[in-house]
Amino acid sequence: MTTFAESNILSEPRQEYESKVDLLCEWADAYYDKDQPVVPDSVYDQLFREVQTIEAANPEWVRLDSPTLRVGAAPLKEFGQVEHGEPMLSIDNALNAEEAAAFGIRVANELGLDPEEVLYGKEPKYDGLSCSLVYENGLLVQAGTRGDGFVGEDVTAQVRTIRDVPLTLKAPVTCKVRGEVLMTKAQFARLNAEAEANGQKKLVNTRNAAAGSLRQLDPRITAKRGLSFMAYNLIMDNGPADQEGILNWLKGQGFKVSDEVEVVKGLSGIQSSFERMAEIRPNLEFDIDGTVYKVLKHEHQQVLGYSNRVPRFYIAYKFPAEEKSTAVLGIDVQVGRTGALTPVCRLEPVFVGGVTVSNVTLHNLDQVRLKDVRVGDTVIVRRAGDVIPEIVGSLKDMRPAEGLPEWEMPEHCPTCGSAVIKVNAKHICTGGVSCPDQQLYRIVHFASRGCMDIDGLGESTVVQLIGAGLIRTISDLYALQPEQIANLEGMGKRSAKKLVDAIQGSVGRQLHRFIAALGIEEVGSATAKLLARSFGTFEALLSATDEELLALPDVGPATTASIRGALTDAHFGDEVRKLAALVNPAPADKQAEGPLTGQSIVLTGKLPNLERDEAKAIIESLGGKASSSVSKKTTAVIAGEEAGQKLAQAKELGIPIYDESWLLALDASTPKAEKIDFASIEAERVKAEIAARPNPTWESRVAVEDTPVVIGALRAAGLPVGIPGDESADIICVVENSPIPKALIACPNGSVFRFEPTVFEPSFWAFATRNYYLVTGNIADRTGLAERAGVDMGSNKVSGRALLRAKADGPSGMTLEQLLEAVGVVKERTPELVQGSLF
Ligand SMILES: [Zn+2]
Repeated sequence: MTTFAESNILSEPRQEYESKVDLLCEWADAYYDKDQPVVPDSVYDQLFREVQTIEAANPEWVRLDSPTLRVGAAPLKEFGQVEHGEPMLSIDNALNAEEAAAFGIRVANELGLDPEEVLYGKEPKYDGLSCSLVYENGLLVQAGTRGDGFVGEDVTAQVRTIRDVPLTLKAPVTCKVRGEVLMTKAQFARLNAEAEANGQKKLVNTRNAAAGSLRQLDPRITAKRGLSFMAYNLIMDNGPADQEGILNWLKGQGFKVSDEVEVVKGLSGIQSSFERMAEIRPNLEFDIDGTVYKVLKHEHQQVLGYSNRVPRFYIAYKFPAEEKSTAVLGIDVQVGRTGALTPVCRLEPVFVGGVTVSNVTLHNLDQVRLKDVRVGDTVIVRRAGDVIPEIVGSLKDMRPAEGLPEWEMPEHCPTCGSAVIKVNAKHICTGGVSCPDQQLYRIVHFASRGCMDIDGLGESTVVQLIGAGLIRTISDLYALQPEQIANLEGMGKRSAKKLVDAIQGSVGRQLHRFIAALGIEEVGSATAKLLARSFGTFEALLSATDEELLALPDVGPATTASIRGALTDAHFGDEVRKLAALVNPAPADKQAEGPLTGQSIVLTGKLPNLERDEAKAIIESLGGKASSSVSKKTTAVIAGEEAGQKLAQAKELGIPIYDESWLLALDASTPKAEKIDFASIEAERVKAEIAARPNPTWESRVAVEDTPVVIGALRAAGLPVGIPGDESADIICVVENSPIPKALIACPNGSVFRFEPTVFEPSFWAFATRNYYLVTGNIADRTGLAERAGVDMGSNKVSGRALLRAKADGPSGMTLEQLLEAVGVVKERTPELVQGSLF
């Protein structure tokens, strides 16, 4: 095998390296893949070490298919990030037979088929870690974990050590292969036996073992764990047309695919194959947690489409959660930072759902009563997948004949002895700052991420500091000196200094973080941001009246009472003021509500009448933010004379540009403290601007700077563009009626494209061809689309016509036709309606 066609021009030592790697590949292939070694192990090992030596001396030569990569490269400092391009979608679950049947019935209804006639591809649902492998010209170049579906961790060096992953494909293609990194049950048992023999910690279950082994910064450790990879999907241009073809192709390229793949028919096929899988589950090589059913035919998949990025033609039918019974040894009480008492059931340790469970919380006394759990009872513990274990209830038949006493909340706090009071369903310790547990968790919360973000100040360190008498309250943190803490166990001079630096480094944190860090009940990070934005400074928040608080969106009486209670509490109120003085949180940009709310506006050049500060003040009084530099977040630029680079940048990014008169007009037309319709002003401007330039036609690609224009105009007409709050879905699509529908897609990144029908799901085009226009946000999200258009989709029986009419008669009163005419994107139109011509 020669990867480099130009190998004849390589230097002699390099050529020697190449041929050695070739030979090693051949031997490794015979040994690992065909199980037929062609040379004795000692000979293989010798060549292997030679290649390793050459590679160490000439790292730039290392071939991506070199078998040496299988044993792991040098350790990484941290994992890089991998962008997946095509997102790694999650799958909906069915947790019982009813849910599985509901899925099958919905699918059949939407396809207009009998529920017993639909064909599904069945595959086991492996309990491992999903990975995406990227091959370029047949060479493995990148591997990433699923992460959030869009961005994962770069585990290329780790994945290279997995024998089931071919470093080179037989075909020199560029593609993405998706599958699951797994550990066999046998390998898991082997590693645990070793760990036990060496007195090391055992692995919990195969899933954790696979994930933990893959996410090792040192790939050499991954190499030793013997992971497996099961491939199940392929993304490739002109690839196989269906799942069967994909799996066969993957197999042909050297991937392992499941033997338990089959085609099943209808609801009864789903149920019977699921039951069979449950039966054979214990005998499988790998742990599985259910079975995946995917509508077989691609054209059916396209009709069903996606909802909120979840494929609607796919279901993971999960095995029922495992349940075990065990004894209740006691019910302890934990005191949280707000003083709330939580009952925690102490159990005889029991292995359920792949982990050993010895504590389960019951949230509050009502739950203890509802589930009737008493000390001495036998209870059922349930755990599914990676879900937190729960207590289902007690087995009353197993209770001793003489009965057991009901458990009661203590009347006094178990840690500070203060009285416990009941507030709604909660029991609260009244100890406040004098309660050590409340203090502990308050301090831990204060230092946590998203709050003051003090590195190295986790629970165990706080326990140590309190235990050593160094701190009692949060504010004590700021008086800590390195020499005081250097002697604590596991500390030392360096970490002591680091910790003190981290604490001092939190001085001046943003106001919203400081507010969140106080841990006031009902005030999470979103409310903290709202308060910061509304009041600007902590002093302003302290002096806010109840009326002012209640006037804020999302702040109700409970939140107001909670804030008031915290700030006026004899102890905590003082502590809060002390902390505010120590931390001195950075004031937030205070924003008024107005036509520019949420807008970020840049001023550039010399304005004819207004001074810079005056203009800034007007922008802020209208709710906007005056910012100094142009970025993607800039929503408008106000340019005066001699405007320079910022103006050019704005043009490049397609940001609307105005002059001073626009701002003055907006200010004059804005009765203060009242909102005006910014969108309609924008629409007028858009129309005027478009009128002043030639119309693009369907046949020409629309100029890039038209994107904001099109989006702006559609928004101005009251049409939903994208899904509120989901910027990534900010796509508009304008479809023209014609026998061969065409669509104009404008993306927020500035590109505008014309698309042919194959790009979208057929049902979308069925809608489009039956009607004249369709304008939508996320095309995949049909349910959301219908909701936004005010159409009840009922059981998915919405008619395309109703949906489009509703949209065309949008709130602006302008029909879509008029609108599109106004923005000039539609030139030619085919008069006839061709119903369902594509299908
Ligand atoms: Zn207490």
